[in-house]
Amino acid sequence: MSAECIFCKIVKGEIPSFKIYEDDATFAFLDIRPVNRGHTLVVPKNHSRNIFDSAVEDWLAVTKTVRKLAPVIEKAVKADGININMNNREHAGQVVDHLHVHIIPRFKGDGFKLWSQSPYKEGEAVSVQKEIKAHLPQ
Ligand code: AMP
Ligand code: ZN
Repeated sequence: MSAECIFCKIVKGEIPSFKIYEDDATFAFLDIRPVNRGHTLVVPKNHSRNIFDSAVEDWLAVTKTVRKLAPVIEKAVKADGININMNNREHAGQVVDHLHVHIIPRFKGDGFKLWSQSPYKEGEAVSVQKEIKAHLPQ
């Protein structure tokens, strides 16, 4: 636990939240500023900042809870789909430094666009593939 962390305080009940679900390792609650209704955050009870410093067991517990809740939330709010999103570090859009996964209900015609994409230039994919594979643990 981190004394100043807002999501640790939510897990401990020190500040209020609209709790959706809780088990031994995870806690899920409504995002206070939802992209769409039903937008839910799933966090591990153990504090970690993001995916990079999380214990594998905590990460697995979070993904298990996300797997459990995504279909429940989609059905409950009558969504047409769900985005699962996670921001890691400031420049990837992370604002709260306690690992969290967003479950975001999507509705036909809601107008939200994901990132634009473009194809690799000639030979670029092979060099990126090499760079990443060179960093894989042996
Ligand atoms: P991120 O940009 O991935 O760090 O997202 C942090 C999310 O936490 C934002 O979507 C906020 O709306 C949400 N949030 C911040 N404070 C609270 C709170 N007290 N209760 C619920 N959600 C919160
Ligand atoms: Zn925390």
